[in-house]
Amino acid sequence: MHITTLGSWGAYPAAQSATSGYLLESGTTRILVDCGSGVLAQLQRYTELEWLDAVVLSHSHTDHIADVYCLQYAIMILTELGKRSRPLDIYAHIEEPERMESLNYPPYCRAYPIDAGDRLTIGDVRFQFGRNVHPVSCLSMRIEHQDRSIAYTADTEWHDGLVELSRGADMLLSECSLYNQQFGKIRGHLTAGEAGRLAALADAGRLVLTHLPHYGDHQTLVRQAQEHYSGPVQLTYTGDCFVI
Ligand SMILES: [Zn+2]
Repeated sequence: MHITTLGSWGAYPAAQSATSGYLLESGTTRILVDCGSGVLAQLQRYTELEWLDAVVLSHSHTDHIADVYCLQYAIMILTELGKRSRPLDIYAHIEEPERMESLNYPPYCRAYPIDAGDRLTIGDVRFQFGRNVHPVSCLSMRIEHQDRSIAYTADTEWHDGLVELSRGADMLLSECSLYNQQFGKIRGHLTAGEAGRLAALADAGRLVLTHLPHYGDHQTLVRQAQEHYSGPVQLTYTGDCFVI
């Protein structure tokens, strides 16, 4: 399984980059996880949109779904040009009915609701979802292919369910919106130290820090995570590709 970081900024994209978005590839299966601002342009550097099988959205905040509506137009145009013959499936955890309905774009895109505790198989990739603590409903996810696994926190403040969902994952892709000195000041997100603690408690194989802040020195995030976790820790940016 390959996972390519399309964007790793929180809130808004830096130049030439994007907010949250990750391309999963396994055999002929291609899945986009989150589709934030700037993701659609980056996605086309790594795959033809004709081959995209599904989109999985963690929650409704704009830095995770902004580009999904332009993606709908792209799928419509490719279908009308005869380059694509099947609808794009969009799985989303969105409580607002109108917004959930907006993900349906028949006959080009079909939206399906997902919730904590659900399991989902797309091609040969399996998903399991957990409930987060965030200002809107948000799902963390464990993604498995054969005996390999990725845990993706999406956006959340600390909760013990993250440890179980991430248990033994080969790669923990953890949001890291905050420096340790911000602990307790901003709700709904993890500090670097908490990301490191999560990786240690879950015994993850490696820790990759994402959903990065637009201020401070990112190497400080790595050092703060390493105070809790002795395995490999790295930041991720647009274009990074991991083989799991
Ligand atoms: Zn976010």
